Amino acid sequence: MLRSVNRAARAWQTADGANRRHEQEDLPCLSRTTDDHRACLGRDRSQTLGRLDLRPWSSIDASTDPVGELWLERTDKSAPNPALLLKLLFTSEPLSIQVHPNDAFARSIGLPNGKTEAWYILSALPGARIALGLNRHLTPQELREAIGDGSIADLVQWRPVAQGDVIFVPGGTIHAIGADIVLAEIQQRSDATFRLFDFGRHRELHEDSVVAASEAGPPPTQPPPRRLTDARLVLVASSYFVFERIDLRRIRSGDSRPIGKPGFS
Ligand SMILES: [Zn+2]
Repeated sequence: MLRSVNRAARAWQTADGANRRHEQEDLPCLSRTTDDHRACLGRDRSQTLGRLDLRPWSSIDASTDPVGELWLERTDKSAPNPALLLKLLFTSEPLSIQVHPNDAFARSIGLPNGKTEAWYILSALPGARIALGLNRHLTPQELREAIGDGSIADLVQWRPVAQGDVIFVPGGTIHAIGADIVLAEIQQRSDATFRLFDFGRHRELHEDSVVAASEAGPPPTQPPPRRLTDARLVLVASSYFVFERIDLRRIRSGDSRPIGKPGFS
């Protein structure tokens, strides 16, 4: 059953007193009562950033209207929202260079929490890339100028990605997702996004909020994966979530033996 959900764009007061809005507004929602989740289609109304074919990741028909995000939500709409949100993202063009607040900054502007996230690359065409952090530390003034003249696009650390790569993006880390990528994203439930650069799409940039919310420097060290059993690999363990890759074939066959000592040995 396809039903339309009007999600009013959420406005919040930034440190500089301006109202900012999130870039996603109306999200048509596909409700699946026979499944254990509800998939919401995130479409950007002003752009065609998504894809027309979601296979094999989803059987949802996107052939007439590109889909950029699927949100996996609880089926029971009366159930409280979990603290986390799991999405699938489909890109055909680079998404904006952006930053999300950490908890401390989010609370300073009246939001309940920040947004730390992690990505697992499900597929990536050759040449696909993401950006995480900056090549060097920038002063607030340098960051402001780099947003103003667009040179921020050359100051972020671009890196190639391939299927199976994992990227941890703590709140406050400047980042971007390039074209031709499908990824699974786990995140704190928040829609606070501040944009630095939009690849010619002319949407609003949030310079003051970016300067206030960003760690304007090289990215934090990525945590190494830790194997728990033959079937279970911890990709990221943070204070917000534990992100695991689970080999369902091994789980189903019962062939899942601990590796070494139990826990994070
Ligand atoms: Zn993000």
